[in-house]
Amino acid sequence: MYDWSCRHCEYSVSAGDKRALIDQVKSHLVRSGGGILVYNSPTRTDEGPACTDLLTVRDVPNTGVLWITKSPAERLDLWRRHADGWPQRLQLLVPPSATVTEDLFDRSAITDGPAEVTELSSTSLEKLGRQIADNTSTLAEECRCTTVCFDNLSNVIHEFGNRSVFKLVHVLNVTMHNAGALAHYHMEPETHIGSTTHIFEQEFQLLRDWSGEEPELSLP
Ligand SMILES: [Zn+2]
Ligand SMILES: [Zn+2]
Repeated sequence: MYDWSCRHCEYSVSAGDKRALIDQVKSHLVRSGGGILVYNSPTRTDEGPACTDLLTVRDVPNTGVLWITKSPAERLDLWRRHADGWPQRLQLLVPPSATVTEDLFDRSAITDGPAEVTELSSTSLEKLGRQIADNTSTLAEECRCTTVCFDNLSNVIHEFGNRSVFKLVHVLNVTMHNAGALAHYHMEPETHIGSTTHIFEQEFQLLRDWSGEEPELSLP
């Protein structure tokens, strides 16, 4: 028998095999919110479907999607190619423009759909975390179902270091569960040493990795 208990609430579950347990864990996160760590493949070919699958996992009409990304136009293009119609609200949080090159703000690429682009106003990681948490909570209050994509956790780790980003992810995972929002975070494991990926895996309740031929959900 395999057991699992949620670290953010009272929920616990047992199952006869690991696959069944992982399905139960996923259902809990879809229902109650939480964080999934997604390892992009080195070629990033799988990124689009993986991302939109997780963003549209609750197939209901009133949805809110939040993207934390440096490349809003690229993300919207990915959505157009892989998702079926727009969510009710689509919010993109981008870093302060000082840190992003001009072409990423090509507004003409962001004309269709309900996209709202908000520039994050701070360069301190702690304040950025608070802005992300506030936006998530607001969106979750306004929409029946909220999903969140943290586009590139690896870049943030390279910029701010393991310790502070780990703290950020910890705070956000609690926020997501409290708000009932399902978040996923993309990481490029080949750009980190093994101990770094190991540390971050511990903070997540589900991992989508490439240990087999195909990407699969597993328990960290
Ligand atoms: Zn829970
Ligand atoms: Zn994503």
